[in-house]
Amino acid sequence: MKNKDTTTNAPKGAAKKSEEEVVLKGIGVSSGVAIGPAYVIDQHGVPVPEYCVLASQIEKEVKRFHAAISKTQKQLGQLKLRAETLPSGANEEIGLLLEAYKGMVSSSRLVRGVETLIVDERMNAEAAVQRQIAAIAAGFAAMKDDYLASRADDVREVGARLIRNLLQQSYNPFADAPSGSILLADEITPADTALMDPERIAGFAAVLGGPEGHASIMARTLGLPAVLGVSALIKGVTTGDQIIVDGVEGKIILHPTAETIQFYRGEAQKMARETRKLRSLRDVPAITLDNVSIKMMANLELPRDAVAALDAGAEGVGLVRTEFSFMNRSDLPGEDEQFETLRELVVNMKGLPVTIRTLDVGGEKLASAFGESLGESVNPALGLRAIRLGLVEPKILDTQLAAILRAAAYGPVRILIPMISTASQMRQVRERLIQVERKLTRRGIKLPPLLPPLGAMIEIPGAALSADALSRVCDFFAIGSNDLTQYTLAIDRGDERVANLYNPYHPAVLRLIEFTIAAAWRANIPVSLCGEIAGDPKVTALLLGLGLREFSMSPSRLPLIKQTICNLTISQSVTFAQEVMRQGNEEEVASLLEGGAHAIQPASLLMKKKK
Ligand code: PEP
Ligand code: MG
Repeated sequence: MKNKDTTTNAPKGAAKKSEEEVVLKGIGVSSGVAIGPAYVIDQHGVPVPEYCVLASQIEKEVKRFHAAISKTQKQLGQLKLRAETLPSGANEEIGLLLEAYKGMVSSSRLVRGVETLIVDERMNAEAAVQRQIAAIAAGFAAMKDDYLASRADDVREVGARLIRNLLQQSYNPFADAPSGSILLADEITPADTALMDPERIAGFAAVLGGPEGHASIMARTLGLPAVLGVSALIKGVTTGDQIIVDGVEGKIILHPTAETIQFYRGEAQKMARETRKLRSLRDVPAITLDNVSIKMMANLELPRDAVAALDAGAEGVGLVRTEFSFMNRSDLPGEDEQFETLRELVVNMKGLPVTIRTLDVGGEKLASAFGESLGESVNPALGLRAIRLGLVEPKILDTQLAAILRAAAYGPVRILIPMISTASQMRQVRERLIQVERKLTRRGIKLPPLLPPLGAMIEIPGAALSADALSRVCDFFAIGSNDLTQYTLAIDRGDERVANLYNPYHPAVLRLIEFTIAAAWRANIPVSLCGEIAGDPKVTALLLGLGLREFSMSPSRLPLIKQTICNLTISQSVTFAQEVMRQGNEEEVASLLEGGAHAIQPASLLMKKKK
């Protein structure tokens, strides 16, 4: 069942079949090269808690079990769809196996057995699944027929999947991966990426996921090479296999030959040299050739990334995605804990402004600690996400606002609200902020002399089109081009099957960006852009030409964009932007951007070293 969707580079018969070099195709979502042993997350057991369920909770426990069955069925269905993209032969074989798994998950023996253990023995669902799976697997293993006996492994795999879904992954699924491992899984969630230590993990790849999902964004921030949408990873690789992740070309090379390894080592060295060269721009200010100063800020997912932001020469933080600090835990952090984390970040940024975004959970960013508050939604991206949750669960919002206000006493802070669609939402948040401040003052807590500026993410088309009205209730805007693209074009940004249609340079998206920037200028409020396109040198001239003067991006992108800015003039950028905005279709825009006004002439940089 190994290595199906493949092109083989090795000469025929050169090695044992299981060790032939094989190239698996996917979408490169974070550039770079990683070479190392695979660690297949789904092949490892998970720690299963055991406890006695209270009599009053039994019904809820049975429901929890059924929810995990539905989730598992859905995942298996998604994998089956991916498997259909594999070459014929492989797709039928894997498709049949996945169909069999679906049957096992809902088999009456498993379902009734687990229900009985929960109801009669008051066992928690995870332990009940483990017990019942062990009994079913033992039955298969004892069979005389080899084929049937080998089904025991399949039963265990189905059980492990069910248990993981019950646990909602509030544990580290790769805690014991050896240093230098490349993580592989059906799906890498944003919460998984928050656990990745780039000192220990070399890169990752998964069957599901698109280039603009948060796992991809996090990979770019961590500087980890990553490839998603690799269908052939379904049953294709085993922990310990030697692999290469080529994040530039979107390839996984399994069992690479010595020659291939040597080639990729060379590539990795070349990239490292390039990065070092760009790092020398750290202290060069971003000033255009006609002397307009551009503010270069960093996006952070975790407070520890402040070091990377400063190293890259960021002039502040344009976006802190606070939700990452709420992931991988079963409880919500209280006000004091949130305050300590944010205070440390503000202090570490040494007086540079820090834009803290309130929680943006929901959609693909799930944090198990929120449990049922997030509820089930047919369209999670359109459901109770971000500030919508904050306004129906004001205790969560108030606690976070209190922590941010307290941290603002230690350095300049701005507060950013995600997924705003109406001015009334902004007014409600401001009202809450004022009340929270009053309460903190009564508690005698140290606060900044003035309330921090309060701004809105402009990432819903309706918000962009109402930018004039919103500008009257906002102190600043931050354009979220990732979601703006998702919602304008109705493309799920994390779904690899529609990734080819995700296009932030579609004229419709560009018009919304143009309109938002113009509205901010009219109202005389600052506007930044913190979606992924801020880090794409192809559009730097266009964004400057549209009037953008503040960029925020993953720290690793800062030097390159700075270099690009230093080689442009605003007048040249305005002409270029006018030309781009005249285009009616995305192909014309794309060809202008490809050929575009972003040519880089590094020599002119050296004249502008900071005094
Ligand atoms: C965006 O939507 O562009 C953005 C910056 O926010 P996030 O990627 O966290 O949704
Ligand atoms: Mg967003």
